[in-house]
Amino acid sequence: QPHIRKIPTNQPVLPLEVFSSRLGKKPEEIIKLDANESPYGPPPEVFEALQDLKHPNIYPDPECRQLRTALAKDSGLGANHIIVGSGADELIEMIFRCVLVPGDRILDCPPTFPVYAHQAAVSGALLVKVPRKKSDYSLDVQLIEKMVDKERPKCVFLASPNNPEGSIVNDEVLLKILDMHVLVILDEAYIEFSGMESRMKWVEKYENLIVLRTFSKFAGLAGLRVGYGAFPLSIIEHFWKVKLTYNVSITAQAAACAALQNPAYLEKVKVALVQERERLFTLLKGVPFLKPSPSYANHFLCEVAPEMDAEKLKDDLESMGVFLFCLEFDFGSAFATRPSEWTAS
Ligand code: PMP
Repeated sequence: QPHIRKIPTNQPVLPLEVFSSRLGKKPEEIIKLDANESPYGPPPEVFEALQDLKHPNIYPDPECRQLRTALAKDSGLGANHIIVGSGADELIEMIFRCVLVPGDRILDCPPTFPVYAHQAAVSGALLVKVPRKKSDYSLDVQLIEKMVDKERPKCVFLASPNNPEGSIVNDEVLLKILDMHVLVILDEAYIEFSGMESRMKWVEKYENLIVLRTFSKFAGLAGLRVGYGAFPLSIIEHFWKVKLTYNVSITAQAAACAALQNPAYLEKVKVALVQERERLFTLLKGVPFLKPSPSYANHFLCEVAPEMDAEKLKDDLESMGVFLFCLEFDFGSAFATRPSEWTAS
């Protein structure tokens, strides 16, 4: 197509309906673990709020005032630090639109959430890759510092807990990276499962920190698309300028507000998911050809021994109605790549 520039593909997971018709099973019979969604769904207040929706003929509040006020109350951070988006994904995309011009660099620490690298490719930003340490997926802070000095990336993306394996960034490491004077994007999509406090409040102190959160995981609202970012006041005004005017539907805003009204339900679901994570982790540790990684998230990564075919294992589980995400990555040195291993999460 002569009018379209070259765009890298991304690989979203398939919808539940496709899985269920493929297997001839009801959606409720499918065990869908490939996108780290909540199997429990949102609190009942969400369904009530959706039934009570009025005025679909009127545009939604472009500033999500009610939701931002509720988030501010819960987090102790002023609503003026918060922007809501259509999932944390939209905020990632906004960061690229607001901060980077083609040719700028971002620093990425794979294996991690692939949307950072994909958005970099879409926006023409160059990727400075600093792979995580093979032993425990922790960040290689020394190498990050070296690459920041050498390549001068504009921002560093860090997921804590990380996707795919669920390791966290501790305070000491975060402070070291904040000290490198790059913009740090701390993606806390899974923070609720970590037992740690969110670093949202840190944006009051650190002018180079953006914290991302989402209702997709802990609140069971992945299908309604609500995420948000906490920004330092010195940069948030620029983000308001790039945000699409009516980016969060009335449905999504109402659902997120309703979810926050039932913290007891959200806590119960979180505890159940963490317990289940630990139970499954212990079980899988006993399987000789699997090596699950300890996780602070609602999911974990399971390395598959080289003599096993991870893709086939995934297909076999699929035929039983269990859907996983299979990924391949390498632990080369920064920039270099090595023959890769298959792993299933
Ligand atoms: N960050 C991470 C680390 C994720 O794993 C995900 C979802 N898979 C997101 C952000 C995006 O979440 P959302 O559904 O809010 O767009």
